[in-house]
Amino acid sequence: MNVSVVLFTADLRLHDHQPLRAALESAPEVVPLFVRDPAVDRAGFSAPNRLAFLADCLTDLDAGLRERGGRLVVRHGDPVAEVCAVAREADADEVHMAAGCSGFARERERRLRHALESDGRRLYVHDGVVTVLPAGEVTPGASDHFALFTPYYRRWSAEPPRSPVAAPGSVPVPQGVRSDELPSRAAVAAVSEGLALGGEREGRRLLTAWMSRHVDAYRERHDDLAGDVTSRLSPHLHFGTVSATEVVHRARSRGGAGAEAFVRQVCWRDFHHQLLSARPDTATKDYRPRDDRWRHGKQAEADLRAWKEGRTGYPVVDAAMRQLAHEGWMHNRGRLLAASFLTKTIYLDWRDGARHFLDLLVDGDVANNQLNWQWVAGTGTDTRPNRVLNPVLQGKKYDPIGAYVRRWLPELADLEPPLIHEPWKLSAADRSSRGYPDPIVTLADGLARFRRARGQDQAVQGTSQTGKRRTTDAC
Ligand code: FAD
Repeated sequence: MNVSVVLFTADLRLHDHQPLRAALESAPEVVPLFVRDPAVDRAGFSAPNRLAFLADCLTDLDAGLRERGGRLVVRHGDPVAEVCAVAREADADEVHMAAGCSGFARERERRLRHALESDGRRLYVHDGVVTVLPAGEVTPGASDHFALFTPYYRRWSAEPPRSPVAAPGSVPVPQGVRSDELPSRAAVAAVSEGLALGGEREGRRLLTAWMSRHVDAYRERHDDLAGDVTSRLSPHLHFGTVSATEVVHRARSRGGAGAEAFVRQVCWRDFHHQLLSARPDTATKDYRPRDDRWRHGKQAEADLRAWKEGRTGYPVVDAAMRQLAHEGWMHNRGRLLAASFLTKTIYLDWRDGARHFLDLLVDGDVANNQLNWQWVAGTGTDTRPNRVLNPVLQGKKYDPIGAYVRRWLPELADLEPPLIHEPWKLSAADRSSRGYPDPIVTLADGLARFRRARGQDQAVQGTSQTGKRRTTDAC
């Protein structure tokens, strides 16, 4: 056999890439291929921030391949039709790709396998490229997936991850395979001003710099909103410009409590992927329905708009939403606060919040976004589904000197704590001169509405009908 095709999807790198390794072992020449699928645009998943980051990643992948004597072939169209066409043009017998976890990815694999086999060719799908452990590799026995994180983390940690594979020294690509133009970031409109740079080189630089500077303090400082010392690797993990397996290897070989706390966070990513893989419907449906009757109507629409614009009147929530708009990225503590505020304090459907996040997040991904939203909304895997985060207490705790709020809300930049977290306590004249809104709802009203909606209002008096004390946590 002379040629193999490697289809790149969510694995836009040369280091630790088993499909590329396998293709090079089975044939002297390979066609590295990326197919830009218009179905992703039609499904509303092509947010400008991700398209711009993707353009960086493809440009960098092409540059890395050229350094190794090859190049990237890019095609636009249905991936099944395009892969078959490229395989025919190059006379390739095999196609290699990474396994995906979403229903969309699995259906693409199924169609591709069928089409290639009808053409006398073979598809090899490699596990453990996108995640550390393949989805479904560990199960609790009675079920096809883990529904709780802690037991999953225990099992996941007991499985030795495979060793990362080195980047190939050379990648010979046959002549004459047509490629469309590489996309460019400059051609993408409506990109967030502060969007990070994509590409494997940048991902590896970030990983190395962050490991040497911040990982040791990760356990103590990961919730520090203004400190901003989490890794910011999420877009690179989403596009696969860094390998999750390599990230875990590097953290574990460094050792220490900070590194392990970080590895635990990476495990959340695998956890959500194994759940989505087993239950693809959770991308849109409640994992654990709570009989919610989310608010609708004019006031609900106005509240959603205020939340999106960062004008709820709760500074830490608004700061987080403005960070999202400016960078296409948000700190994890900000995501928790913004999502709790939407689903609990103003009691709007988590799908509306998740949609807005997906429209902006550079790391926006179905498994992590939808299942984290469900976790916060209490329809997912959280064992305390009715906990409500209090944005004032959380602001004081995770932004104690108000530096995060000051960074994103110029209207409040001259304030100090505690007023910076409670600007409604300023005089009416001061408030109106700043142009910063009063709260769209009081926390007490929001909490009472949520308790009623979840049938928790009795808990305020004491016990539920079953005699068990039922409470809505507010923290
Ligand atoms: P670090 O703290 O450095 O963590 C390292 C890596 O671990 C991250 O890059 C990420 O891949 C993974 N990770 C960390 N926390 C989580 C988590 N809770 N769930 C899954 N993986 C995690 N993450 C996304 O990658 N894409 C999303 O679309 C996304 N949407 C979210 C929506 C909501 C409502 C919430 C609460 C969280 C969401 N997260 C999402 C998870 C988390 O907020 C981000 O992964 C994290 O903030 C990225 O920053 P970092 O790379 O600096 O993380």
